Amino acid sequence: MDLSTKLIHGGISEDPLTGAVSVPIYQTSTYRQKKLGQPGDFEYSRSGNPTRNALEELIADLEGGVKGFAFGSGLAAIHAVLSLFQPGDHLILGDDVYGGTFRLLEKVFKPLGLSYTMVDSQDLTQLEAALTAHTKALYIETPSNPLLKIIDLEKSAAWAKKNKLLTIVDNTFATPYLQQPLALGADIVLHSGTKYLGGHSDLVAGLVTTNKTDLAEKIGFNQNSIGGVLGPQDSWLLQRGIKTLAVRMEAHQKNAEMIAEFLINHPAVANVYYPGLAAHPGHEIAVKQMRGFGGMIAFELVDEGRVAEFVEALKIITLAESLGGVESLIEVPAVMTHASIPKEKREAAGIKDGLIRLSVGIEAVEDLKNDLEQALLIK
Ligand SMILES: *Cc1c(COP(=O)(O)O)cnc(C)c1O
Repeated sequence: MDLSTKLIHGGISEDPLTGAVSVPIYQTSTYRQKKLGQPGDFEYSRSGNPTRNALEELIADLEGGVKGFAFGSGLAAIHAVLSLFQPGDHLILGDDVYGGTFRLLEKVFKPLGLSYTMVDSQDLTQLEAALTAHTKALYIETPSNPLLKIIDLEKSAAWAKKNKLLTIVDNTFATPYLQQPLALGADIVLHSGTKYLGGHSDLVAGLVTTNKTDLAEKIGFNQNSIGGVLGPQDSWLLQRGIKTLAVRMEAHQKNAEMIAEFLINHPAVANVYYPGLAAHPGHEIAVKQMRGFGGMIAFELVDEGRVAEFVEALKIITLAESLGGVESLIEVPAVMTHASIPKEKREAAGIKDGLIRLSVGIEAVEDLKNDLEQALLIK
């Protein structure tokens, strides 16, 4: 079955009780137990809720996992995954991971005894150099945030496996429609459901899945013990969003390809980072491991001093954090999403203060180009 069909019919796509084609919102915290000590399938909504369960089955189905888990945010999902590790454990981390992931590791897990090394994870020699006797996992994003670096998942996961490390992939930018890391050797895949999966900038959620039953058991234990679960209303909304993922992603990337071309040819724009461009260093790998190049673009202006003026002059494209919604959003990582990463670390990773990240929406591309054009020309 093609993924486009699975998005709509995968997991639990209808109500087994009534045949309703949309799984109902089970707005309940608890469930009647007919016999003492013998609860049914559902017992208490932190441990399980039918609406959340439908979403969890769906993400597992889409990514090829054995079980899925839904959380109140992407970071709550990442927290539950990083809680698999113990004091003394060491992780290898891609050097341009989401700023909040870095902050969670640096400010929450490091004081609890977890250590990590950030490397350019495109480079196997750097991975090799970061390896210690205590290294337990490789944690990567591809395409990465915000520079759209492409990491060869098959190669990285094989390297990790050889060194007895888990491979954890944040698949937020690609979504399972464009890329399925478990099939390429990863052990755990996670998402900020807030972005493309939700798709309408109207919810905050996180998803995790794995194809290993022992890991599923541990993540499930963490989900219930830490308790950062997604409520039934948002679970329903996220499942609804996922149904249209294929058409939205196709529209996002069609627009993004045209906007990337437009930016490259614009005299006020210096560098453009988009994996769909033949000149992008990760282009060949993207062709190999992705169905398309996605809807995210990063770029720099020739005149870095004009960044604020440019983003503030846009009328249709909205200056805001987040990405993956139907509306185009633009932001400056050094000031916004990646501000929690110290300047030296940011610059070492190639994230200049003037870098701009654009989440290309599904508006008419001419309107987006005109908006960019008028803002680039303002003096
Ligand atoms: C937004 C984002 C997160 C965090 O997700 P929240 O839903 O905001 O908690 C993690 N990883 C990536 C790549 C993101 O873009």
